[in-house]
Amino acid sequence: MEKKTRKIGIMGGTFDPIHIGHLILGEGAYRQFGLNEVWFMPAGNPPHKQNREGRATDEQRVEMIRRAIAGNPHFALCLEEMNADGFTYSYRTLEALNLRYPDAEFYFILGADSLFDFHKWREPGRICRACRIVVATRNQVSDEKLDEALERNREQFQGEFLKLDTPNLDISSGNIRERIREGQTIRYYLPDAVIGYIREYGIYGCQPAAEPFDRQAAQEQEDTQMAGTQKLWSIDKKLRKELDDSRYRHTLGVMFTAASMAMVFGVSLEQAQTAGLLHDCAKCIPNEKKISMCRKHKVPLTAFEETHPFLIHAKLGAYLAGKKYGVEDREVLGAITWHTTGKPEMTKLEMIVYIADYIEPQRDKAPRLAEIRRLAFEDLEECMYQILKDSMAYLSANPENLDRTTEAAYKYYKKLHDSRKQQDVKVWK
Ligand code: ATP
Ligand code: MG
Repeated sequence: MEKKTRKIGIMGGTFDPIHIGHLILGEGAYRQFGLNEVWFMPAGNPPHKQNREGRATDEQRVEMIRRAIAGNPHFALCLEEMNADGFTYSYRTLEALNLRYPDAEFYFILGADSLFDFHKWREPGRICRACRIVVATRNQVSDEKLDEALERNREQFQGEFLKLDTPNLDISSGNIRERIREGQTIRYYLPDAVIGYIREYGIYGCQPAAEPFDRQAAQEQEDTQMAGTQKLWSIDKKLRKELDDSRYRHTLGVMFTAASMAMVFGVSLEQAQTAGLLHDCAKCIPNEKKISMCRKHKVPLTAFEETHPFLIHAKLGAYLAGKKYGVEDREVLGAITWHTTGKPEMTKLEMIVYIADYIEPQRDKAPRLAEIRRLAFEDLEECMYQILKDSMAYLSANPENLDRTTEAAYKYYKKLHDSRKQQDVKVWK
């Protein structure tokens, strides 16, 4: 038998819609049992939930999960039961997952209500042989009652039933659907991205939010946008003097590419443009001077950077962006700092500037540019992986020039990429 090397939590449910109760359960189990990942597995067509009227379609439920888990790297979406035709039973799914992933131990996560019904499920004994069962309290069930139910099930089905320490969260999909029908607020019951989607498609009879036009707010927004643009061009005026022609043209290319990507991924245009404009502001300073400036201004350098000064412009650039160009936004400074080496777990803005630097229209040296340019507007993390992969291959000719942070970034994005592929579980971020 293959050795079990990873622990996977399975959060099964109808998710009609997914809500914070589900997410808190998943995160709690991840922490408490040291899981490697938690897969959210929407049921395709559960026998006890046939009436679809006033409910979301399968595609909508999947999309809501996708939006809810975006941004949590150890959450994934598992379509095992979605793909099945007709009815699905948990024992069959769990047995199939065990066969498919022999290296994984499964932890099936349930709320107490599901535990009380557990003996009525098909083949509870087989479920117990296929996984451990993790149960969270719900509906104000007392500790004693839950402990009793856990013990009863342990004895009856010879299974491993574990208790999850989460608070009692009085929230359910049914209750959320009711609130929508009654026109009550659902704010904070679900992630904003899910609420936005429910509104957009009018799911559960939800009326699109009719925002009254707020003239003052609109004016303020326009004013800030104007001020932002003016700030940008005053930076540009100073910067032009510091860069040679070709670097300046490249800089504008990065700025506009970053802005376009920001439009796709919902990032602030001002942040993307400012970071793009200033990313290379220290690039044309001679290497010796870069080092002396860092010493003078106490910008810490690693031993590697001391011997590879072409990397320094990123950190020194962030310093100058703050001091000389008056940028206070730490996210923008972060994007400048990491635009050359990359790093694990980058923010969207950081990935955008890193990628824009690689793909802006005047670049023509890198391999597979057309493919990577397309990916840049579809999937930031996958695009990071593809760029880092090519960079690693390129640097392998001179491994002594390989920065540790780049290597760590590569490993991080490779892991994300592999986990999507291997599991045959579609993970969207
Ligand atoms: P519905 O009201 O439609 O039954 P639900 O909120 O119970 O929806 P499901 O998709 O049925 O959501 O739940 C999936 C799993 O998550 C079940 O095991 C359920 O017990 C558990 N669960 C859902 N919400 C909570 C919660 N607030 N606290 C604890 N467990 C929960
Ligand atoms: Mg339920």
